[in-house]
Amino acid sequence: MKTLIKNGTLVTASETFQADLLLADGRIALIGAGLSADGAQEVDAAGHYVLPGAIDVHTHLELPFGGTVSSDDFYSGHKAAAFGGTTFHIDFAMQAKGERLQQAVERWNKKAADKAVIDYGYHLGITDLNEAILNEIPEMGRAGIPSLKLFMAYKNNLQVDDTTLFRTMLKAAEHGLLVMVHAENGDAIDVLIQQARAAGHLTPEWHALTRPDWCEGEATGRAVALAAVAGAPLYVVHVTCAKAVEAIALGRAKGARVMGETCVQYFHFSVDNLRQPDGAKFVCSPPVRTAADQAALWEAVRNGSLQHISTDHCPFLFDGTRPIMYEGRPFQIPGKELGAGDFSKIPNGLPVIEDRMPILWSYGVGQGRISLNQLVALGCTNPAKIFGLYPQKGTLAVGSDADVVIWDPHKQKTWGVNASHQRTDYNLFEGWEITGLPVKVFRRGELLVDGDRWLGQAGTGKWTPRATHAPVL
Ligand SMILES: [Zn+2]
Repeated sequence: MKTLIKNGTLVTASETFQADLLLADGRIALIGAGLSADGAQEVDAAGHYVLPGAIDVHTHLELPFGGTVSSDDFYSGHKAAAFGGTTFHIDFAMQAKGERLQQAVERWNKKAADKAVIDYGYHLGITDLNEAILNEIPEMGRAGIPSLKLFMAYKNNLQVDDTTLFRTMLKAAEHGLLVMVHAENGDAIDVLIQQARAAGHLTPEWHALTRPDWCEGEATGRAVALAAVAGAPLYVVHVTCAKAVEAIALGRAKGARVMGETCVQYFHFSVDNLRQPDGAKFVCSPPVRTAADQAALWEAVRNGSLQHISTDHCPFLFDGTRPIMYEGRPFQIPGKELGAGDFSKIPNGLPVIEDRMPILWSYGVGQGRISLNQLVALGCTNPAKIFGLYPQKGTLAVGSDADVVIWDPHKQKTWGVNASHQRTDYNLFEGWEITGLPVKVFRRGELLVDGDRWLGQAGTGKWTPRATHAPVL
């Protein structure tokens, strides 16, 4: 199957230029002026931009959490991702206590295999380290899973101590794997949560007040220092605040091999949203912060202190006592109402996988905060490089997978739950005006999204192995 995309304006992380693009056998076969190809289906992209499919390295599909499960699975989450211009994501295969890493991978394979539409990979979430698990880490790297995630928060649940973190870093450094951390001081946060609940402070606002930015800044600095000592590359997930940005920037300035991401929601929401009557909709960890932190995050993605903008997509229904309709059938699962009357019981996580690129297009590029090339770097190319996928994915180059998105810079839509494909009952960006949207989305040359039409087929997305010893950007 061949597709010839004519007359478009191609955008990469470094260049913007007019060219035609020939997709053949799942790859980009040719890039050039005035291309023609017998038997190719022609798509006229005049007046449109042509971008690499976006990559989201931080998602949680069908994740058990807080007495329920995140409401998008590997089908609905992939459909939503594709409508937002995302054609590859990396989910977290979470090790259960006592489990081998390979068993966690097998559990995630069962969730994904029959449902996947876009391509995907896994990070391994390590929660229970011992000698056998340490020895399994190099095998995982060789098997195409070269990134490990550890939690410095969620005490008595996912949290690991510094011994575990440091030993993992030493092992990862030796074998070319990347360590990722959720950086918050879980011990201090646990005390603050207990104090708040004892004092009767139970509203969603207290979710943020019990997770202060100092706790994130401290844990980030600690992880940076341990990585520097271990000689290990480090990637800090979902950075939300100036104090954490500063810790990463300091490490980088001192020669530590540290990187980080933020998520699109942290640019746009603050503790004020948690004070709304529907504040539970905005509960995620680390929490949404302040306008000053938002400004620091924009500066950090512009100056290269942070290299990727992901989503931490982990949706829940706002009101799980009522079914929603999904593809013509009722869907119902417990959601944020589990925390009615106690902020500490609200499932942590937000729906963002579809929203990310359109929101960044309109409110990042459209408002002059980042350039179009920076959008491609932050949303597509940098994550491919950091996570061992480049140049197979993340760019427009001959030989790369034909993951290609045609954007209409003039197409307008009022964003919201009714226009969304995320399987939940609310949208964070309800009522926001969007100018600039994907109109055709190809995954390995196959058209998944054509305007408002969905052409994706469950089970066609491929798990994609990634390389060890990826560069530090
Ligand atoms: Zn996460």
